[in-house]
Amino acid sequence: MSDVILAAENLTKEFKGFVAVDGVNLRVRRGQIHALIGPNGAGKTTCFNLLTKFLPPTRGTITYDGKDITAMSSADIARLGLVRSFQISAVFPHLTALENVRIALQRRRGDSFDFWRSQKILSRFDEEARGLLAEVGLSEFTNTAASELSYGRKRALEIATTLALNPEMLLLDEPMAGMAQADVERITALIKRISANRTILMVEHNLSVVATLSNTITVLARGKVLAEGDYATVSQDPRVVEAYIGA
Ligand code: ADP
Repeated sequence: MSDVILAAENLTKEFKGFVAVDGVNLRVRRGQIHALIGPNGAGKTTCFNLLTKFLPPTRGTITYDGKDITAMSSADIARLGLVRSFQISAVFPHLTALENVRIALQRRRGDSFDFWRSQKILSRFDEEARGLLAEVGLSEFTNTAASELSYGRKRALEIATTLALNPEMLLLDEPMAGMAQADVERITALIKRISANRTILMVEHNLSVVATLSNTITVLARGKVLAEGDYATVSQDPRVVEAYIGA
């Protein structure tokens, strides 16, 4: 089994001649937390959308677990085990945390969601759903409506519904966006915990979170990879400092 789980080769995206992502080579190693950072406009979101198949690349290839996934849909790659958080699983505000996770588990089997399906069928997934809620620290909110949860706990619930798909690799788009400090700490601990047996690639603006969590960081600037390494290495790289200051 290769050490590299996700690889991008010469990944390029042009928008009407403007090159937003320019020949990016990326290797995410199995079991790591890998962060994609860079100043505003660096191409992080575009790169993330290419990797998660929300956008087709202009050039380049993407390989997951040795398979060329360049032409696959996001639903196809989810079936291979590469899942973007919040991709498939919307959280239903009026349903409880438990009901939301049960529905996500039911959808994993490929059944389309039928709101009127009897609770009896969904209750088959009860034990597994409770296990996932425990994994994300929401056991005491099992019967709380999603709409009543704090922002950070709602995010934890979204992560639980994503974990219901049993991903081998998770792609997280700014998991800390808009969060209060207490929630940032809770979600940081949660990401650390779920990374124990999964690979994670995230785009994240909060650099102290990136420093705490990441094994490897890729810094993008003007669509290209500017630097790569652990936090100590990239944060001391004068080109990185300049890119952030000059942005
Ligand atoms: P980041 O996430 O690092 O802030 P983005 O990937 O959002 O950067 O954007 C990179 C560059 O590509 C920006 O200059 C942005 O204006 C441009 N861009 C992104 N999406 C589009 C689009 N759909 N059409 C045209 N330009 C775009």
